[in-house]
Amino acid sequence: VSTGGLLVYAESNVESGKQVVEQNQPESKKKRVVVLGTGWGGTSFLKDLDISSYDVQVVSPRNYFAFTPLLPSVTCGTVEARSIVEPVRNIIKKRSGEIQFWEAECLKIDPENHTVSCRSGINDNLAGHNDFSLQYDYLVVAVGAQVNTFNTPGVMEHCHFLKEVEDAQRIRRTVIDCFEKSVIPGLSEEERRTNLHFVIVGGGPTGVEFAAELHDYVYEDLVKIYPSVKDFVKITVIQSGDHILNTFDERISSFAEQKFQRDGIEVSTGCRVTSVSDHFINMKVKSTGKHVEVPYGMVVWSTGVGTRPFVKDFMEQVGQEKRRILATDEWLRVKGCSNVYALGDCASVDQRKVMEDISAIFKAADKDDSGTLSVEEFRDVLEDIIIRYPQVDLYLKNKHLLEAKDLFRDSEGNEREEVDVEGFKLALSHVDSQMKSLPATAQVAAQQGTYLARCLNRWDQCKSNPEGPRRFKSSGRHEFLPFEYRHLGQFAPLGGDQAAAELPGDWVSMGHSTQWLWYSVYASKQVSWRTRYLVVGDWVRRYIFGRDSSR
Ligand code: FAD
Ligand code: MG
Ligand code: MG
Ligand code: MG
Ligand code: MG
Repeated sequence: VSTGGLLVYAESNVESGKQVVEQNQPESKKKRVVVLGTGWGGTSFLKDLDISSYDVQVVSPRNYFAFTPLLPSVTCGTVEARSIVEPVRNIIKKRSGEIQFWEAECLKIDPENHTVSCRSGINDNLAGHNDFSLQYDYLVVAVGAQVNTFNTPGVMEHCHFLKEVEDAQRIRRTVIDCFEKSVIPGLSEEERRTNLHFVIVGGGPTGVEFAAELHDYVYEDLVKIYPSVKDFVKITVIQSGDHILNTFDERISSFAEQKFQRDGIEVSTGCRVTSVSDHFINMKVKSTGKHVEVPYGMVVWSTGVGTRPFVKDFMEQVGQEKRRILATDEWLRVKGCSNVYALGDCASVDQRKVMEDISAIFKAADKDDSGTLSVEEFRDVLEDIIIRYPQVDLYLKNKHLLEAKDLFRDSEGNEREEVDVEGFKLALSHVDSQMKSLPATAQVAAQQGTYLARCLNRWDQCKSNPEGPRRFKSSGRHEFLPFEYRHLGQFAPLGGDQAAAELPGDWVSMGHSTQWLWYSVYASKQVSWRTRYLVVGDWVRRYIFGRDSSR
C-alpha cells in the first residue's frame, strides 16, 4: 500500500471526546517516513536524514528531547529540568525542509496495511483525546523502553523510577519531603531514621550515579539546613549481583565500592528485593537464604528495562511473540515484516552466527571451486567476513591471532595450507561465542539513528543490493554495510567531584580529573547551544550558591 503520503483519516467523535475529522492531504510523490519517538534514537535519525527527499512525520508523546545522562543531576537540583530538554520543534526548525511533528502516542502498528494508530491529548486529562492514524512507506520505531519491575509486588505503587524528566522532578520533591517529615516534633529517633533512609534498588550506572548525587546533595547542602537530623541519614544501594557497576571494568567497580564505603553509602550486594510495601522493603539475602525487612523513607527502583505493551503487540503480529525484545537484523530492519526499522532501547540487533552460514561462506570463499579453502582464498574474503560477522574480528583480537592462517592450525598447532568444509567449521567453531548484544545506551541509539538516516539518504543506489557484503569482495562496495557500533567509552560519576571512565583501548581513568573530562564531554554533547549554556550555567550556580532545597 505504499502509495506515498496520504494521511488516511483522523477519527473522532464529539460525545466521547472524539470528533470526526476527515483530512485528505494532497498526495505527495515523496515517500513518507514516520518516526515514532523523539529520544536519542529518533532525534539523531532526524538530524541526519535528508529531509528534502522524504515526507517526514514524527509522533511522540513528549514534544521535547531529554538529555538522559543528566537526569540524575536533576533529581538533586544540580541541574534544572528545563536545562536538559530541547523542544522537538526547535530541533526540526533548524532543518531546511519540512518535518511534521504530532504530539501523540502510538497505540498500534499495523504492518499489513502500513499504518500506525495514534492518540493525542494523553498529557491532558481534561481536554479528552483524539485518535488518528498515519500511513507510512518506511516506519522508524525508536520508542525506547519502559521500566521493568520484574513483576515484583508493590514496586509500581511505592517506588520511584528514574526514566523521565517528570520522575527526576518527583524524586527531588520527595527527598525534601523526607527531610521535612523527619524534623516534625514528637517523632522517635527510629521514625526519623526511617524517614531519612534512601534506598536505591539496582547497582547499575544510573542507580550508582543517583546514589552519588544524593550523597553530595545531602552532605553538601541539606545537612546545613537540617542539622538536627544529619546523623540519621542513610543511603543504601541494593544490588542482586556481587558488585556494583558490573558492566564496567573491575578497577572501576572496586573504585566505586571503595569510594562508597568511605562516603558511608551502604552497598548490599547479593540481595534480591522480593516485595515492597508502604513502609518496608523486603529482600532475600542470597548467601544465607534469609528474608529481611528494611524500613525506608524513599525507594528508587533502577533495574533494567522492559518492552512497551504496544511493541509487544507488534512483536506478536510479526511472529516474534517468543522473544523478550524486538529483533532486527544488522541493517536494523525488523524481522518478520517489511519497511519497518527499529533502533535504540526498544530493539536489539540479532546478529547472525557464523555457524549458521558456514557452508555459504565456504562456498563464496572457495573461488576456484576446489572444495578446499586455501589460506590465500581465506585471506581474500576475511575483511568482508569481518564486516558481516564482527565476532570474527573480536575472536582474532582476543586470541591474539594476527593472521588468517593462524585460524588454520590443526589440533596439534601445526600450520595448514588448506582446509575442507569440516576443517573450516572447526577453525571457526568458537568464533560465535564472542557475540554480545549491544548495551541499552544513548550512544548505541544515537549511532543507530545516524546509520539509518544515512542508509535512507542513499536508498536508491543501495536498494538494488540490500544484502551488501554477503556477496563478498568481487561485487564491489557500494552496498549498505551492516550497522557497526563504535564504543567510545563510558563514564560513571561517583560524587564528590570524582568520576570514573572507561575509554577505548582498555584505558581506565578515575578521580577528580575524570570529573572535569566528564563536564567537558557532557557540555559538548548537548544538542543545542541553548541547553549547553543552561547546563553550564547550572553547574556554575551550584558551585557558587549550592543547590536549591525548596520543594
Ligand atoms: P528514548 O531516548 O527513551 O526515547 C524514546 C522516545 O519515544 C521518547 O521520546 C518517548 O517519549 C517516545 N515514546 C514512548 N512511547 C511512545 C509511543 N507509544 N509512541 C511514540 N513515541 C513514544 N546512556 C548513555 O549512553 N550514557 C549515559 O550516561 C546514560 N545515562 C542515563 C541516565 C538515566 C537516568 C537514564 C534513564 C538513561 C541513561 N542512558 C544513558 C540510557 C539512554 O538514555 C537510553 O539508552 C536512550 O535514551 C535510548 O534511546 P531511545 O531513542 O531508544 O529511547
Ligand atoms: Mg528515540
Ligand atoms: Mg532520550
Ligand atoms: Mg538496543
Ligand atoms: Mg579452493
